Amino acid sequence: LQSSSSMGPETKTQVPLRVFFFPLMSPGHMIPMIDVAKLFARHGAATTIITTPANEPFARPAIDRANSSSPPLPHPINLIFLPFPSSVHHLLPAGHENFSSITSDDDFNKLFTALFALDTPFGHLLQSHQPDCLVSDSVFTWSAAISADLNIPRLIFHGPGIFTLCIHDNLNLHDAYGQATTFTIQDIPHDIHMNRWEVPNIFTLPMWLQMLRDAEDRSYGVVVNSFYELEPDYAELYRRKPGRRAWYIGPVSLYNESADEKAVRGLAETEHEELTSWLDTKPAGSVVYVSFGSLCVFSVDQVEEIAAGLEISGHCFVWVVRDKGPSTPEGFEERVKGRGVVVRGWVPQVVLLGHVAVGGFVNHCGWNSVLEGISAGLPMVTWPLMHEQFINEKLVNEVLGIGVTARREGQDPTVVIGREEVAGAVRRLMDGGDEAEVRRGKAREYARMARTAIEDGGSSRVDLNRLMDELSQRRDVGGEEKVEFSSN
Ligand code: UDP
Repeated sequence: LQSSSSMGPETKTQVPLRVFFFPLMSPGHMIPMIDVAKLFARHGAATTIITTPANEPFARPAIDRANSSSPPLPHPINLIFLPFPSSVHHLLPAGHENFSSITSDDDFNKLFTALFALDTPFGHLLQSHQPDCLVSDSVFTWSAAISADLNIPRLIFHGPGIFTLCIHDNLNLHDAYGQATTFTIQDIPHDIHMNRWEVPNIFTLPMWLQMLRDAEDRSYGVVVNSFYELEPDYAELYRRKPGRRAWYIGPVSLYNESADEKAVRGLAETEHEELTSWLDTKPAGSVVYVSFGSLCVFSVDQVEEIAAGLEISGHCFVWVVRDKGPSTPEGFEERVKGRGVVVRGWVPQVVLLGHVAVGGFVNHCGWNSVLEGISAGLPMVTWPLMHEQFINEKLVNEVLGIGVTARREGQDPTVVIGREEVAGAVRRLMDGGDEAEVRRGKAREYARMARTAIEDGGSSRVDLNRLMDELSQRRDVGGEEKVEFSSN
């Protein structure tokens, strides 16, 4: 067998590696996992994405674009639907099969329950297709037993980067530091403190943690959307756990080269030409891009404060507002016309972040946004809201030194961040001065490292090739009992 690292996809003639991808139904998980599938497909694998029917709009544009690329993929990416579980279907409004369409905790729990009922149809699907590998979202813990029974290696896709995965390990090990309201994370290379409210909710659910641990024990390894040079100490630390194997193959968004490839990640429903033409009229680095991911909904009060803060900051901005949230205050958009644009709904984020006029990024520290901002060389205002976003913030500000926080010390996410704080954070980010310049310089340097990592011979490319070669060898000898691989 020839190595995938030593040959282009066009010369690959042997039976392709067949890989199934099963992302959680949320843009922040589907988008990067489809990027990973495209990466495998470009390297000759026959790839399949599995989702439910109402999630087609989140997957189809990127898959169709990849399948019509030139030169063509050796094997088109396939999309398979599992029917949304009928037992819970009536509990949710029709078509609400993605976390981005959920507006209440109650519906969140219902959708979560529904996704757990996918296990049986998923098992049948895997059994009938017998792929050579499954890349499963970590949330689908039950897919570990199914794939182990079928002797199909399961790779875990968690979502966040390596620093955050290490902190999760650490919180797990120390039982999330008891009931302490604040504590210092032990045995890591940096001095990191945490408030209780920054600990992700999963650490209050011991059964769930146990299921995640059991699923990891039954899995082949972990695929991480990050790159070694971004978090080298943590890349080493994470792989150090006995029996764990991990491949760092990101930033996966960076493999999308052309503007239209970037534009079809996710919903691909907004025309962005008008927006990019507006950006074209602005000086380099003068616009702050403000977006809080696909899930978050702010209160009316918080939206008012963000609007007022952006207005008094004096800086140009693009502010992306979710359809399902409150609208901006009356008269605001008129008042800021020419200096600021509010976009409702979906925008092609990586296209906009890559525009030369954009000089800073206010975001919620969702991992994809963080990594996309880093890839674009942008310093950030960090504004975490939930889940592991508080930990991602610590990486950005305390380890990488490329961000400023929107929050005052000790402010938990239930507190509305005032207009003066918003304006202050934007000014610290966008104004001149030594500190801002240092942040900008570091952000640009990380962007350069990210680009190098995904190029030929770069760390992410090498890890991807190693992984694909190993999976091909495993397949060719007929399963893991017959071949041993050294730990990476
Ligand atoms: N995204 C986008 N357009 C939008 C909103 C989000 O392209 O209008 C993409 C964004 O580029 C990222 C993903 O959706 O790839 C959001 O993931 P992230 O981890 O940043 O946040 P989440 O939505 O999971 O909170």
